[in-house]
Order: sequence, then C-alpha cells, then structure tokens
Amino acid sequence: MKNKKEVNKVALVKCRNYNQKLVDKAVQKCFELLDFDKEIKRGKRVLIKPNIVGSFKTNQQAITTNPAVIEAVCKILKKKNCRIFIGDSSFTLTSSALKDSGIEKIAKKYGKAVVFDEEKLIKINDKKAKILKTFRIPKVIKQADIVINMPKLKTHILTKYTGAIKNLLGCIPGGMKQRLHKKAPNEKSFSNLLVDIYQNIKPEINIMDSVLGMDGKGPTSGKPKKAGYIIASKSSVSLDVVASKLMGYKPKKILVIREAVKRKLGNYKFKLVGEKKIPNLKFKKPKVFKGVPGILLREKPIVVDEYKCVRCGLCAKKCPMHAIKLDPYPVIDKNKCIRCFCCIEVCPHHALSLREKKKEKINYN
Ligand code: SF4
Ligand code: SF4
Repeated sequence: MKNKKEVNKVALVKCRNYNQKLVDKAVQKCFELLDFDKEIKRGKRVLIKPNIVGSFKTNQQAITTNPAVIEAVCKILKKKNCRIFIGDSSFTLTSSALKDSGIEKIAKKYGKAVVFDEEKLIKINDKKAKILKTFRIPKVIKQADIVINMPKLKTHILTKYTGAIKNLLGCIPGGMKQRLHKKAPNEKSFSNLLVDIYQNIKPEINIMDSVLGMDGKGPTSGKPKKAGYIIASKSSVSLDVVASKLMGYKPKKILVIREAVKRKLGNYKFKLVGEKKIPNLKFKKPKVFKGVPGILLREKPIVVDEYKCVRCGLCAKKCPMHAIKLDPYPVIDKNKCIRCFCCIEVCPHHALSLREKKKEKINYN
C-alpha cells in the first residue's frame, strides 16, 4: 500500500495519432521517464488488461484500447523475453470482442489471448471491502508477475469518468459484472465497489490510450474526441487524477478517485513528467444523476432509437434486473430498472441512450 504522502510520477507524452512509429516512440518515452524497465525483469509473466468493453462496429477506435498502443508495449516486453498474456472480460461475447477490436491479432503475434470468462477462478475475500467482501477473479491475473493496466480515456454516464481503476471491472468474468450493479446501483456505491476491486488487484504499471478518447455519453455511445497523448504511471490513482484533469474534471469530483484517496491507496498529488502542464481539453461531460431511480426514470429516461435498433435482444439478455422485454423493440420496466446503464453500454448499435430531446421515443411500460 502506498504511503499517503508518497508522490507518484505520471508521464504525459504527446502522440498525434495511431501511426505505429509514433505510438512506439511515445510508449518508449513513458517507459524511460518512469523507469518501467526496472519493474520488468527478463522472462517475467506479464498480463496486459486492455479496455475491450464489447464488440462494436462503429466508434470502435474511440471505445477500446487501440491495438497500436498494446503492440508498442508488447514490443518492449518481447525484447525482455517476457511471456505475454492479453486478457479481458467484456460485456458481450469476449472472444468476439477480442477479435473485433484487433487485439486478438496482437495477442497471438506476441503471446496469448485470454478470455477471462473461460478461465479458472479464484476466490478473493476482503474484510476491508465496503461492498464486495467476496468475489472471484481469473487465476491467471494472480499468476502474473506484472499486470499492465491499459485503459482508455472516456467519460462514463454512471461514474463520470472511466480510467485505470474502472478498467479493472473487466477482471470480473462474464455475467457476474452485470450482477454487481444490483449490489451497487448508484454512482457512490458503484465507485466504492470499483475501489474494492482495485485494492485487491493493483497493477504494477498503467498505460492509458489517450490518443483518441470519448466524451458525452461514454463509455460506448459518446463522440470520439481527439486528445493526442499517452499517459502512464505506476499508480492507477495518480493516472486517473491526471487523465480526469485533462478532460476538464476536478479529480475530487470523481467519486472513484475520492474513495481510493480516502482509503489511502493513492493521493491527489503527483509529479508530472514529459509535458510540463496538463491542458484542459474540455471534454463534454455526461450528466450523472443521484437519487431515487423511479424519479430519475421520469426525468431522464432511457430511450430506444428504432432506426438503429436491430432487435437483437442483447440489452435484455445483459440487464441484471431482467427489466427489458422486446415488444418488438426494447421496453423497460421502470419498477425493476436500477439505472446501471449496462443496456446502453452493451448495445452494439448505440440504439439506447438517455433522453436528450423530447421527440425521442420512450419505451417504458
Ligand atoms: S437496443 Fe441494441 S442491444 Fe437492444 S435489441 Fe436493440 S440493437 Fe439489440
Ligand atoms: S434496463 Fe438498462 S439501466 Fe435498467 S437495470 Fe436494465 S440494464 Fe440497467
């Protein structure tokens, strides 16, 4: 556990686009600035945890960690003869999501792709956790000598921002992730739950793809937003502090950061290396609601765009509360819905969103 007063370094390095040479250079610079080489000894077993989310045909580049950034890391690890595993559990079929994201190709080129949902699980018991005192994670995570966390810079309609700490939710396999929303249905409890996971899986290295981010209705239905950076740190908390500032947030307003600092897992202070200062890129913020779900549903309901919806039923399948029925388009039972937004996150066609304009169709029973 980090000392409260310890100040972590965060590297902020410019990277204009996903040209492999540019990305290689930026990632290499992060490694040098932060002495990651010392961390990674020859022949070690390294697990890379990207942000894959699901199978998306549109907006793909703004949703998932770009394979070019992962490849840049793999090249460095390969030179050290490391055994590389790249794994995640997404909201849709992870094997397809790995393929569609282009990450499976990189995994096979440099090591092995790991579908967390198909792995042996181990039980974690944590008396100090606030929400998640017992949970299971794939054994492969604990078997790794080093975990490299590779999140993506995005807004989030439930937690405002999704970054390094939030990316670890993908360590919970399959449908268990959705069920966690029942345990923690609002921003505060969900942020606590994310920190519960973080205090049990603390990546040694964090490298964020902040070349192309997402703003507005992130993490899947927002707009791509160019940022032009790679951000790295040994501390997930410090990385989240810098990345949230880059988006234009006050880190103290992000409950997951606040909770991690409160539990002394990191702090707001950091030493910036690479760039001299953090620009405010003014990401468009999603509206995050607090309060009673029933009232919120009336004020800001989830709406379906029938032009985009292909009636695949995935949202209904993934809803932890079984609140969605297809008739023939998704209809949400407002008495069951807990506003976890899994349905919005999971829809491969971005057909669900929070109502912005009155004319949008509301499907509630
Ligand atoms: S809203 Fe999306 S996930 Fe749900 S049925 Fe329509 S296309 Fe499928
Ligand atoms: S309808 Fe959507 S927001 Fe409501 S509980 Fe189901 S998945 Fe969550």
